[in-house]
Amino acid sequence: MPKFQKGHSYGFKAQNLPHNKGKKSRQEAYIPATYKRLSSEMTDLVNNPPSASEREEMVQRPGNYHLLRPRGDACKSEVENHQDQNFEQLLHLGKTGALWNQAFRSHQEQNPGCNGSLTWNLATEERRGLATRMGLKCGVCPFTSKRHNLFTEVETSAPGRKPASLNYSLQVGLSQTPLGNDGMRKILLSTNTPAPSRKSLQKTSNKVLAKIETLNTADMSRRCRQLVDVNTIRGQESPQSIDVQCDGMYNNPLYSGVGETPFQPATQTVYSVAENVTAKHQIIKLITKNKICSKHGHLRDAASANHSCSPGECGANLPMQHTIGDEFTWAREGMAELLCEDGIEVKGVTTDPDSSAGRAADSLFKDGLYKVKPVHYLDTRHLSESIRKSIKRDEKLLQVMPCRTKAEKTKLLHNFALDAVDRCTAEINQAYDMYAGDGHKMKNKLSYAVDAIVQCYMGDHALCRKHSLVCNGGIVNWVSKSTYLGSTFEIPHSSENEDLLRACISKRLSPAVLDKTIKNSNSQKVESFNRTLRRSLPRNVTFTRNFAGRAHSAAHSSNNGPGDSIRSLCAGVGCAIPSGGSVDKSLQDIQKNHETSKKYQKSTLYKTKRVVKRKKLYKLYEKHQEEIKYQKNMMLSESRARGKMKRHSEHNYSKYD
Ligand SMILES: [Zn+2]
Ligand SMILES: [Zn+2]
Ligand SMILES: [Zn+2]
Repeated sequence: MPKFQKGHSYGFKAQNLPHNKGKKSRQEAYIPATYKRLSSEMTDLVNNPPSASEREEMVQRPGNYHLLRPRGDACKSEVENHQDQNFEQLLHLGKTGALWNQAFRSHQEQNPGCNGSLTWNLATEERRGLATRMGLKCGVCPFTSKRHNLFTEVETSAPGRKPASLNYSLQVGLSQTPLGNDGMRKILLSTNTPAPSRKSLQKTSNKVLAKIETLNTADMSRRCRQLVDVNTIRGQESPQSIDVQCDGMYNNPLYSGVGETPFQPATQTVYSVAENVTAKHQIIKLITKNKICSKHGHLRDAASANHSCSPGECGANLPMQHTIGDEFTWAREGMAELLCEDGIEVKGVTTDPDSSAGRAADSLFKDGLYKVKPVHYLDTRHLSESIRKSIKRDEKLLQVMPCRTKAEKTKLLHNFALDAVDRCTAEINQAYDMYAGDGHKMKNKLSYAVDAIVQCYMGDHALCRKHSLVCNGGIVNWVSKSTYLGSTFEIPHSSENEDLLRACISKRLSPAVLDKTIKNSNSQKVESFNRTLRRSLPRNVTFTRNFAGRAHSAAHSSNNGPGDSIRSLCAGVGCAIPSGGSVDKSLQDIQKNHETSKKYQKSTLYKTKRVVKRKKLYKLYEKHQEEIKYQKNMMLSESRARGKMKRHSEHNYSKYD
């Protein structure tokens, strides 16, 4: 800064001009603002045009009303709201009766002359989830009764206030439906019943579902011990070794993300092991894996840097980067647990053709944990399905199909694949029944059947009469009876065609494949368990905290049946349903219906009906397709005719000629 000098002065210079010199001021016309107070809903609608520019325009517009802040709804206290006592409530009948009787008596004792009527004293109500603790009061005199628990209590040995059994058993029921706590609240509120808060419901479900998991684990262990007993009584040399079938289920499809996202979209899996010792195929082990942390909503991290939940707090038990489709590890874990906790050794595993559970059993044998090398069987249904697909894709077979156009050939090959697989399955089932599962005799018989089937599809039934178990080779034979093939179906006779056919029949009937399916067991039961599992863990809701508990609840229901499962789980969490009551009877009915329908589904009547229904549907579809084809042809010939008439016009139909 320059030094101060004499004569230096600050301030405006004399010749500075004012900013508005020579300008005329113009006053804008004053438009009085119009004010309006709307309801909060209307205010919201008016104030939110779809784009920011429109809002700007609206503010500038002269006719625009100035909106005042909407008034809040008149705030009534909850007590006042309840004053009219106009809502529903779940109360224990006996305890409510006792409360009224006692209140009548003490009201008379206190104020003998009062003839006021008693009402619920909602001001002092103590709500515990669905249950409530309430007293009564007189409408005239100041009498109030003592409060009573209008619910049954859970029998616990823990100190402190006993929880209402209603809240516990509600969670048992919910765990076997697709509903979560929010769904339950909706149902209650729609019936004009005050619903418990989300938080209290969540707290109870955390407690109850942990208990269900323990109960089901104990139940599965009991079933394992029972299996050993069964094997002992059957006279098995080593009753501890059993056959199992394994399958995994995921909350999202395992592979749908491939090509778009590098990771697998599935975040939760239930791997189930079912016994193959009895026809019940009970679930004896569940492995649940969950990547989603229920507390923080993120996927569980590897180094646990972001994840600091203790095991009891959150449901995640698998780091985010771990492959969820790692069936080998889950199967190994399940089998190892079976061995350590229940002493069960796996001697045979039935799985999908693409599963690695067989390798898992092998690895336990290699580690010296199993004494006998386990055998890996293939599930017949999945195997048939994959063979059907491979026949459908066979290019060489496509060429030999007896029809003209490529489209017809493709369709016929599709049908042929269905029929060929059916034929193989039928032959195997017959042989299985005939030789009572004797592998050696079955393989011998079926090796001849391969030749018979090959000749059969080429129109020669001479071998069928000798070796086939399902085609008697008469005028009414397998091919003429077939739903999928026309009665005149016949593949031209040549040695190349014979080789082609033999190759595709051998996919199912070769000795090596028969060895893998010698038990003739399919994973029908595990699949039906997967349906039960879907009921508890639906696709549209992700249960994070209680994922494992819900899976165990489903397994318990599958093992015990729907009625008995509810009854024993309720008893297990300390709120047993009294036997002999109407609730008990309803549960018995549910159980009985379930058993009857299961028995019916196993009956031959049901199975034949199903086959007949499928054939009918197939015929219907064929007919429909033919009608469509006919109509198309009609339209085509019409347009062809039109095309000839209107050759001169600009519409050119010549491509149809
Ligand atoms: Zn009174
Ligand atoms: Zn967590
Ligand atoms: Zn035949």
